[in-house]
Amino acid sequence: MSEQYNKKIDSITKDLRPELQELSEYIYANPELGHEEFLSSKAHVELLEKHGFDVEYPYLGIGTAFRAVYKGEKEGPTLAYLSEYDALPGIGHGCGHNLLGATDTGAGLALSKLVDEAGGTVVVLGTPAEETNGDKVTMADAGTFDDVDIAFCTHPSDSYQASGTSMAMEAIEFRFYGQTAHAAASPFEGKNALDACINFFNNVSSLRQQIHPSARVHGVIKEGGEAANVIPDYTRAEFYVRAMDMPYLNELREKVIRCAEAGALAADCRMEWGHYEAAYKNMITNETLSSLYNEKMSELGIQMITDERDSMGSMDVGNVSQVVPAINPYFEITNGKSVSAHTTEFRDCTLTEEAYQGMEKTIAGLTHTALALITDPDMLQRVKDEFEANVD
Ligand SMILES: [Zn+2]
Ligand SMILES: [Zn+2]
Repeated sequence: MSEQYNKKIDSITKDLRPELQELSEYIYANPELGHEEFLSSKAHVELLEKHGFDVEYPYLGIGTAFRAVYKGEKEGPTLAYLSEYDALPGIGHGCGHNLLGATDTGAGLALSKLVDEAGGTVVVLGTPAEETNGDKVTMADAGTFDDVDIAFCTHPSDSYQASGTSMAMEAIEFRFYGQTAHAAASPFEGKNALDACINFFNNVSSLRQQIHPSARVHGVIKEGGEAANVIPDYTRAEFYVRAMDMPYLNELREKVIRCAEAGALAADCRMEWGHYEAAYKNMITNETLSSLYNEKMSELGIQMITDERDSMGSMDVGNVSQVVPAINPYFEITNGKSVSAHTTEFRDCTLTEEAYQGMEKTIAGLTHTALALITDPDMLQRVKDEFEANVD
């Protein structure tokens, strides 16, 4: 780690801290659900503009998304930071996205103070609705990362953990169509869409015994009929199908669809299916990039836990990791205590001194990593070579 940059990054991070703390606390106090993050996105945009970024807002026609760019005076690679700021119903920022946004935007701001001299371009993306219908998916599909070399996202947690994997996921709804009839007087004239749906659930239960232990298929009946004395002519179930990689997800999806077809066939009904939320791909951690980040954190006195965090959940940064080399490491905000995300306790940890120290360390680690990539083209190439080898 060069002494020259070390001192600079230290003072840049310290200078930024009051503004980032204010940003995180403002968003904490104004929790907004996915696609309603108007105050939260605006607060990010104002801070980025104040620091000389050119901002497109709204971005891709999404009211609470933005793309902020700071182009250094010297040529170099383009590094992107992904900010989130959506909250959860009932518990506000139980996932800590107030601090996540401040940290990733903060890392972008920190690097922007160095690229005039070091070279390169900094992009900060405001990515709405991670908890529901994440727009990183929209951005990955729309070509947002076509001119990006590396993408970084971080997440608050109860320990410092290296970037790991997450599950690929599809959100599929199944609609069953039958024929109404009086359930007592003339059931033989009906076609029971609820039976079709229940057959489907039972078929999935049979299938589940033979699927890979890491895969998940789980659903609920959202519409199950109107009255007990009317044969239901319409039912609808929502499912999530999850797997550790895309090939197995594709295989599993087809099997689950066949379970629905078979259920409908047995009840003499018709079935249609479609997606009701965006599909998330599995996270592919770029190991070269991840090792570089872990090494920089270790030089800053933080030992990253490297038995990788394999999330049984799904996240939209997975889609980003399949179009550009990316990492999604975790930083500690709970002062050594074990606290789960999606709780009020975790939410309130985001306001503590330990959390802000985690933010500062993470910003410093990300900035050192970015500079290593900018100043060492061989390292950047190794990261890209690994990406090319992993993605088809
Ligand atoms: Zn969450
Ligand atoms: Zn989260």
